[in-house]
Amino acid sequence: MSDLRKDPTRGQWVLVRPAGAVAPASDDCPFCPGNESRTPAEIVAYRKDGSSPDGPGWSVRVIPEIDPYFSVERNVGREGVGLYDKVPPRGATELIIESPEHDLTPAAMDEARWEQVLWMYRDRLRDLKKDPAIRDILITRRYRKPGSRITHPYSRVIAVPRRSPTRSA
Ligand SMILES: [Zn+2]
Repeated sequence: MSDLRKDPTRGQWVLVRPAGAVAPASDDCPFCPGNESRTPAEIVAYRKDGSSPDGPGWSVRVIPEIDPYFSVERNVGREGVGLYDKVPPRGATELIIESPEHDLTPAAMDEARWEQVLWMYRDRLRDLKKDPAIRDILITRRYRKPGSRITHPYSRVIAVPRRSPTRSA
């Protein structure tokens, strides 16, 4: 389980994430159409009329990250543990699967495709901003990071919890 710790020497908050927590091993890509059952249930998707959630027919699909940095279910509190102030990671990590096409590259994505991806960025930002416990939202994108098991095009949304909405004694 990841958590945020305050570095007492610099006064900065650091995300501590245990090593070794990775997506389940698989030969096939879980982000490709037809493999929807191998990801967590989708949060939202742009789909063809008549297609069902967690099935094929989507053009952009959003799922919770399998090993989330932050999860929306946890309550924000604060505890002192040794040197560190810790805040349980209440926030959200989501993955936006940008296209059904596994080998599509950013350079090859046409305007209509980018437009859909950007609308989905907006939709997720709006939805996550409704949660008062969320302070900042970052959207990042890395294309085929070395060592990454997933090569399908996607972006990651990280919604960071507010630092201290409740003060504990
Ligand atoms: Zn794929």
